[in-house]
Amino acid sequence: MENVVIIGSGCAGWTAAVYTARANLKPLLITGTQPGGLLTTTTVIENFPGFPEGIDANELMSGMQKQAERFGTQVRYMSRVEKVDFHAKPFKLTVDGEEIEAKSVIIAVGAGHRHLDVPGEHDLENNGVTYCATCDGALPIFRNKPLVVVGGGDSACEEASFLTRFGSIVHLVHRRDQLRASKIMVERTLANPKIKPIWDSVVEEVLDVKEKKVTGVRLKNVKTGETGILECSGVFVAVGHVPNTQIFEGQIDMNDVGYIQLGQGSRTNIEGAFAAGDCADSVYRQAITASGMGCMAAIDCERYLASLD
Ligand code: NAP
Repeated sequence: MENVVIIGSGCAGWTAAVYTARANLKPLLITGTQPGGLLTTTTVIENFPGFPEGIDANELMSGMQKQAERFGTQVRYMSRVEKVDFHAKPFKLTVDGEEIEAKSVIIAVGAGHRHLDVPGEHDLENNGVTYCATCDGALPIFRNKPLVVVGGGDSACEEASFLTRFGSIVHLVHRRDQLRASKIMVERTLANPKIKPIWDSVVEEVLDVKEKKVTGVRLKNVKTGETGILECSGVFVAVGHVPNTQIFEGQIDMNDVGYIQLGQGSRTNIEGAFAAGDCADSVYRQAITASGMGCMAAIDCERYLASLD
């Protein structure tokens, strides 16, 4: 039986692993199918303290992983937890078809990209619709072509700015007339001559499914009700995230949009189950806060396990 199983390999998961491993708990970490988590889909992290020049996201995650392994973390790469039973003691987890028993768990499953859920979006995914400018922006289909970024947060601004290296122009489509992003990002974005904001507008459809590639978007101005077609070769969706908590439904308390509810510190409503990072935080959602929450979960977990002895 495992002392603690950590589910997820983003900042929260690896930090929890470093701490629980250093407490001699020999944690088992299940990476999921995106080792390193969502952060690995971005480029340079400029706001993680200790790196005055910024650090490459993959380098940061790989450093956390090596640190966790150095202290004895057992890792199952590319493995997925398919099912959990938190009503049983010890807890039961199904991992790639195999059942694992655990005295405690730290849930650090993060969040995934929110979709627009409009016609054409799903059908044209990977044919011009993407959720990661860093991963796909340099593809030849986007070179010197008009591009659309949807959203008004830091991600949308970051993606728009990155895409100006490749596209002929980047239209930033936002449903309000004010960006949600941080002040510095707003200033940078609006000062960039290759980024053209389109305010108060939503994408109603991505065109053209028949041609099997993106040729444009049908936009609607939410204030005037006017609609029109904007030609483009790529649609980069950056409208936030949804927590990856589907497998915990009915097992643990969550809020109405799926974020795990925390009690004191990292404690959930299930004794012995702790949560950290973006799956339990809809407010701060930073690499550093996820790491901090991973540390809290590890300390709470260590104290819980000590109380069992
Ligand atoms: P976010 O801050 O939640 O912003 C999502 C944006 O998408 C908002 O502008 C929202 O509009 C819009 N939106 C949501 N649903 C939509 C829909 N169905 N249709 C059209 N628009 C929709 O998400 P994020 O930009 O991914 O950022 C997440 C967190 O990571 C934030 O805390 C952010 O500060 C952080 N982050 C930081 C950096 C950095 O520091 N370098 C980079 C990226 C992200 P409204 O504004 O109208 O709600």
